[in-house]
Amino acid sequence: MTSVVLFDIPAPPTIAVQGTLTRFPVNRIFCVGRNYAEHAKEMGVEVDRETPFYFLKSPHAIVESGATVAYPPGTANYHYEMEFVVAVGQPGFKIDAAKALDHVYGYATGLDMTRRDLQLEARAKGRPWDLGKDFEQSAVISRIVRKEEFGEIGQQRIWLEVGGKTQQDARLSDLVWKVPELISHLSQFYHLSPGDLIFTGTPAGVGAVVAGNGMRGAVDGLPEVLLTIGQPS
Ligand code: MN
Repeated sequence: MTSVVLFDIPAPPTIAVQGTLTRFPVNRIFCVGRNYAEHAKEMGVEVDRETPFYFLKSPHAIVESGATVAYPPGTANYHYEMEFVVAVGQPGFKIDAAKALDHVYGYATGLDMTRRDLQLEARAKGRPWDLGKDFEQSAVISRIVRKEEFGEIGQQRIWLEVGGKTQQDARLSDLVWKVPELISHLSQFYHLSPGDLIFTGTPAGVGAVVAGNGMRGAVDGLPEVLLTIGQPS
């Protein structure tokens, strides 16, 4: 007697790798909270310098740059968060920060789209953030640029425009927890796997978007991430 799988479920999403015909399959999406001091301040909280913290999104939240997504259900305060994204290419557990970048495949630009009203309500009640953060089409991502092509993480500018007006503008050097520290810390709790993505947090200037808005953002050396908001589905 052989067993039979009841039905098919969606395959993991994949992301284009710049300048190649290869695609990067997405395993897990880790997101870092409060990783720019000015953003923490605008959210009415302090950066915790003791330890970083995370939330996750389902890989099926992935949307490729250039899409139009429907205004999501359950919110009246739908926010953008422009982020620098790390794509993990080598497995690792309890990784030393000095070796952390050996586990990186490449980098991309992303939008951590957020139902801010639901996130803040959950935060106030001490509940998980899932309804505010982990929903369909909430993780928007550009093509991935391989680590060797991008080079060192330093003073690169990270910015976002909504309708042609600059709303977020910072430098990767403003990251509170640097990428090697994040990889090392996360890997104390998870066996990191190829296909994992790390959204490293957003700078100050987050805000709401409505149907008809278009967003365009980038990090120096990486492709732009583009998103248009459509009518509610
Ligand atoms: Mn974020």
